[in-house]
Amino acid sequence: MDTPAKTPERPTVLLDHYLKLLKLPTVKREYRNVAAACAKEGKDAVEFLARLCERECFEREQRAAERRIRAAAFPAIKTLDTFDFAAQPSINRPLVTQLMRGEYLDERENILLMGNPGTGKTHIAIALGHAACAAGKHVRFQTVTALVTQLLEARDNKQLGRLHKRLDRCHLLILDEFGYVPFTKTGAELLFEILSRAYERQSVILTTNLPFENWTEILGNERLTGALLDRLTHRVHIIEANGDSYRLKTAKRRNKKETRETPEKPASP
Ligand code: ADP
Ligand code: MG
Repeated sequence: MDTPAKTPERPTVLLDHYLKLLKLPTVKREYRNVAAACAKEGKDAVEFLARLCERECFEREQRAAERRIRAAAFPAIKTLDTFDFAAQPSINRPLVTQLMRGEYLDERENILLMGNPGTGKTHIAIALGHAACAAGKHVRFQTVTALVTQLLEARDNKQLGRLHKRLDRCHLLILDEFGYVPFTKTGAELLFEILSRAYERQSVILTTNLPFENWTEILGNERLTGALLDRLTHRVHIIEANGDSYRLKTAKRRNKKETRETPEKPASP
């Protein structure tokens, strides 16, 4: 390799090139600032290198978490910061807070969010998924109906094995809205297969408005329902939300506010 000439620009041109080759974008962007700060504070080269490496690692992890969040395909980003527990006192807050720490993922435990529509089940499921992504886990969010449709299509196209492999790579499967649409016999069997594969290998979060005794109506087969519930609920945390719909409450509040703020229209002549 050539020895670089001692011009002031040449070493940084080369350095920028090496940092690009080594895929160290943060070091490349920051080394001048960090060098200036270290010089000012009288810090040595080891400290300089340590600071740069720390920034590179931090930003790399952030980028990876963002990629995991995009890959999870959440319908919206929701976190617990925006969840008003006071509006939904039926929800076991200490349990939700504990689950946010993610130990259930290491134990391959499941979470069932059960309750009326509009009580924040999907919100909490997304918040848990978001926290899992930030903690380095691979997550996939889907409505149960979308998943079953995808499984049926994959089966028809002889791509089921491929889809199974893709799902197997996730640490956490979030299946939203079980109970709104009944499945065909094949659809129910394919869903059962997913939950069987996940059993003790992945965590599943499932949201539903349907009490257990009605699950057969959706799955169409009592024996299959029993076997599915057996796997899903073997190691499960149940979060129940039985209050009023938050959507309805906020809509009512908005309506009231609007009626208060809209001046009375004069009666038409
Ligand atoms: P569910 O899945 O139980 O039908 P969602 O989680 O979709 O309900 O909630 C409906 C909407 O209301 C969402 O926009 C959600 O963010 C919001 N929401 C529900 N409950 C709360 C709450 N307690 N605090 C803040 N927002 C809430
Ligand atoms: Mg929902």
